Amino acid sequence: MKVVVVGCGRLGAELANRLYQRHHEVTVVDKMGASFENLPSGFEGRMVEGDALNEDVLYRAGLEKASAVALVTNCDALNLVVGHTAREIYHIQTVVARNYDPDLRGLFEDFGIQVISSTSWGAQRVEEMLYHSEIRTVFSAGNGEIEVYEFAVPREIDGRCLSELMQDIEGAMIVSVTRAGKASHPEQDFRLESGDVLLLSASFDGISAFRNRVESLKKVEA
Ligand code: AMP
Repeated sequence: MKVVVVGCGRLGAELANRLYQRHHEVTVVDKMGASFENLPSGFEGRMVEGDALNEDVLYRAGLEKASAVALVTNCDALNLVVGHTAREIYHIQTVVARNYDPDLRGLFEDFGIQVISSTSWGAQRVEEMLYHSEIRTVFSAGNGEIEVYEFAVPREIDGRCLSELMQDIEGAMIVSVTRAGKASHPEQDFRLESGDVLLLSASFDGISAFRNRVESLKKVEA
């Protein structure tokens, strides 16, 4: 795949190198030549120095022949404008942009650009980890609206029924339970044992409600 990565800061350099390692044809663009120093010495993709708002720079980067573009500068407006240009002028199907300011995320969506909101996504992850070490994200769908979580059943919940754990919780559903290395789809009357691992798919509100339930069941037991 021919990929153009716009922005060679911390995120862009990491991304460009990952793509290069997977044998894609990568061109990375940055307005500051010094930013290319973020790339590891083994990187042999193309580097184009210049402002991505400049049409000539995009031409030199080979945008018209690219099959995918990643806009990962630290400027939302630039990521949005160049992302829109890539879709509408260059007709590139796969355009993914980084979004800093969560308030501007809607604009990217209005333009039909796939967006990664690193600020809100990062805050969500850190918040989760602060609350609970026994619940961890294993898969993130879309922009993190729905995630799949792994939950290791603690000692305090041993013997509880699955229906009791999930009762009236909206936005969360059990995907599977693994006991002694064997996974199954549990029924509502399934009795949990400490050490079982539940996979659940949940929205942010759903996992918050689930966390609260776990905490209250643990308090009853304490
Ligand atoms: P970082 O925040 O570390 O991921 O860095 C963002 C990168 O985007 C920096 O290397 C900037 O030089 C680059 N950048 C910002 N604006 C532009 C632009 N107009 N054209 C090309 N690169 C840019």
